[in-house]
Amino acid sequence: MNDMTLPLDTAQLQALDRKHHFHPFSDNKALGQEGARVITRAEGVYLEDSDGNRILDGMAGLWCVNIGYGRKELADVAYRQMQELPYYNSFFKTSHPPAIALAEKLVEVTPAHLNHVFFTGSGSESNDTVLRMVRRYWDLQGKPGKKTIISRQNAYHGSTVAGASLGGMKPMHAHGDLPIPGIVHIQQPYWFGEGGDQSPEEFGLQAAKALEDKILELGEDKVAAFIAEPIQGAGGVIVPPSTYWPAVKEILARYDILLIADEVICGFGRTGEWFGSQYYDLKPDLMPIAKGLSSGYLPIGGVMVGDRVADVLLEKGGDFNHGYTYSGHPVAAAVALENIRILQDENIVETVKAETAPYLQKRWKELADHPLVGEARGVGMVGAIELVADKAARTRFDDQGTTGTLCRDFCFKNGLVMRAVGDTMIISPPLVINHAEIDELIEKAVRCLDLTFEAVRKG
Ligand code: PMP
Repeated sequence: MNDMTLPLDTAQLQALDRKHHFHPFSDNKALGQEGARVITRAEGVYLEDSDGNRILDGMAGLWCVNIGYGRKELADVAYRQMQELPYYNSFFKTSHPPAIALAEKLVEVTPAHLNHVFFTGSGSESNDTVLRMVRRYWDLQGKPGKKTIISRQNAYHGSTVAGASLGGMKPMHAHGDLPIPGIVHIQQPYWFGEGGDQSPEEFGLQAAKALEDKILELGEDKVAAFIAEPIQGAGGVIVPPSTYWPAVKEILARYDILLIADEVICGFGRTGEWFGSQYYDLKPDLMPIAKGLSSGYLPIGGVMVGDRVADVLLEKGGDFNHGYTYSGHPVAAAVALENIRILQDENIVETVKAETAPYLQKRWKELADHPLVGEARGVGMVGAIELVADKAARTRFDDQGTTGTLCRDFCFKNGLVMRAVGDTMIISPPLVINHAEIDELIEKAVRCLDLTFEAVRKG
């Protein structure tokens, strides 16, 4: 069977999937037994599966479909670009109009000191690029000892060897002897999970101090950079306490250490600003981007390079021996450019900030009243709720992840994609979600929390 245009039913699709498809981040044996959910089409904020069910996509795919599904303009641009120039590379002194135009556009929409972009095919490739750029920068500065990158436990920076090493996910480190040398992890600013009796503000300062302690332990002359997501996404939408980023900024300035703000999720409007760095007033030296850059319509990523680093790499660097076949792929670049045009022309980021995010956050925080919910938090178009065993005492379930998975499965069955990270339920809907759709998301979430609560009580 090799013609997917034949009308296959769900069971047939699942059987074929089971036979040949090795899925990412999945227990493939268990998935094979259960059968994958097959998504066949999508429009706006809704997915449709192979049984014809309509599902509100509270995760915008994997945090990426910022402009929503079904925008024909992107398909048209891709079609035209494929006919004009489907592929050429940007190695060896060549370029092409889509990459040139997208680079110019990115410099326009990102913070002022970021005036160059290195194109990649994904967020992971962007972080591999970052590792090499940072070390190259310090080599060129005559400080080859400055190699170590400090990251955070439970961070997510991708799934390649460097990406997973920069990330702080223990289950990922367990596969393949990661992290690679020269990458260390400090405490994350996760008040609900790790703050104990401290106020969020006190805890934010403590988590920032962990950075200074690590710098002092390793020695400033050994530390190249600090990498962090402005808001940790895949780790469970960890919104740092208000004291965290100001203190981190001060520490990085005190010691001569670069800041890498991983904007793969926060970028392109997710926080209600164009970039999370603007939301938190950060001035990153390097800024990996992907996902919302093309709203996921085609794979493309990049690293925005700040003037401090770019000046050195350009002036003194000679050859930079790094790059990907698909760096600045013309069709992906044209689609990304069209995506940014839509974000700009339709004032999508401004609408998020002024209208839809305040409404989503107001409604989302009402979930804190539910007996199963210990905390509801969020910024812009991301949110998290913590499922707890005892609300008053902020005690979590012993078997972390069981209740979250239960809740996630209820959501799917009831027409909502909400992701579970352990017992933390998270959302990151398309930025174009409207008030009525937000109401629907909240109503479905409440219903699924009720169902989960009932199931947990029954044991
Ligand atoms: N960085 C962050 C912050 C991410 O959330 C992700 C993906 N979830 C990545 C990097 C990796 O991106 P990709 O999956 O495109 O390689």
